[in-house]
Amino acid sequence: MKDVLVIGAGGVSSVAVHKMAKNPDLFGKITLASRRKFKCDAIAQSVKERYGVTIDTAEVDADDVDATAALIERVRPALLVNLALPYQDLNLMEACLKTGTHYLDTANYEPRDEARFQYSWQWDYHERFKQAGLMALLGSGFDPGVTSVFAGHIKKHLLDRIDVLDILDCNGGDHGQHFATNFNPEINIREITAAARHYENGEWVETPALSTRQVFQFDQVGTKNMYLMYHEELESLAKFYPEIKRIRFWMTFGDQYLTHLRVLQNVGLTSIEPVMYEGREIVPLQFLKAVLPEPSTLGTTTKGKTNIGDIATGVKDGVEKTVYVYNICDHEEAFAETGNQAVSYTTGVPAMIGAALMLNGTWQGEGVFNIEQLDPDPFMDMLNAHGLPWQVHELDGPLKF
Ligand code: NDP
Repeated sequence: MKDVLVIGAGGVSSVAVHKMAKNPDLFGKITLASRRKFKCDAIAQSVKERYGVTIDTAEVDADDVDATAALIERVRPALLVNLALPYQDLNLMEACLKTGTHYLDTANYEPRDEARFQYSWQWDYHERFKQAGLMALLGSGFDPGVTSVFAGHIKKHLLDRIDVLDILDCNGGDHGQHFATNFNPEINIREITAAARHYENGEWVETPALSTRQVFQFDQVGTKNMYLMYHEELESLAKFYPEIKRIRFWMTFGDQYLTHLRVLQNVGLTSIEPVMYEGREIVPLQFLKAVLPEPSTLGTTTKGKTNIGDIATGVKDGVEKTVYVYNICDHEEAFAETGNQAVSYTTGVPAMIGAALMLNGTWQGEGVFNIEQLDPDPFMDMLNAHGLPWQVHELDGPLKF
């Protein structure tokens, strides 16, 4: 059975659903449900116009386990694809356990009242999924997701041993707005304003947010400032690839973005501590999200490319070697195909691929799995076939920073 239930109707979901509909050999009936049904209906209409495929839509509060379980019982999908927000992860996993349904997501759980994302809460579900004979696949987006699969590919085909790994995430796109985030603003700003952390010799090294900067020349994008950050795949890569001595994550930000962010922080608008406003409690960051452009609306104006990949130094046949695996994605091409910009595209396509590999049984397991635990080859093949081609280059030597 290849029927799928997708939860959440933002930019990432829109791409994943368009790609699923475009591949009827991989997916059966597609049902899209979210907090507000009209968002699902808009995606369904676009899918119908582009590919002539009808998808079902529904309204559900994914924070409500019973309501989600009732929807699953009605739809009877083989797989639930969670493209709502990290806050919903545990409740959706509960609903899957309640109904005997496989699970996939792209972002790890984060409590609403604390800007702290970590896998342990979801890893704690391993035994329950195993007992139920179900599979939960965590982190099937780009980063985490493709970046972890790239590490798996490097380990399987390019190096005998990885010593150091750097993940470089560059968005060279320009949306023409003074300030906007490319995916959910609340989740994005919580991530960027958190302290930086990287993994080195078995320890986590913490540095102030956005305090370590390097300059890097990105293929087809140009020279950009990139900043050391904590990112969720560092936690799972450190666990599942214990041989790697140092793992770091870098993301590019323009000066205009950082200036706006600093001002918003200074005036308290990025805080998640509730404040009283006109007699009711509001969370400043949630208010800020409400006044910022919706990421799904940025596609019409965004130009430029993303370039995201892994640089690994290690040993091959007894000789030190450095390799760079990356994908370049064009915002305008992504928009022409799915009506969404490249940040949604680079996340939605891997979500579709992970779902397809689970549905056709290529990736199987009982329990909770991070994507780097699975065979990278079929996923890498599908990236090339479904719009995210990758390339491999050997570098002259390790990164000099
Ligand atoms: P959006 O905010 O655009 O979309 C989220 C969707 O979830 C919205 O449609 C929203 O509803 C819906 N939603 C929120 N709360 C609930 C709820 N309680 N019940 C049902 N639906 C709900 O986010 P994005 O599309 O940009 O991102 C989606 C996910 O992808 C996020 O978890 C994000 O962290 C992750 N992501 C992962 C990346 C990766 O590379 N791994 C990169 C980028 C994003 P409504 O429309 O009504 O607000």
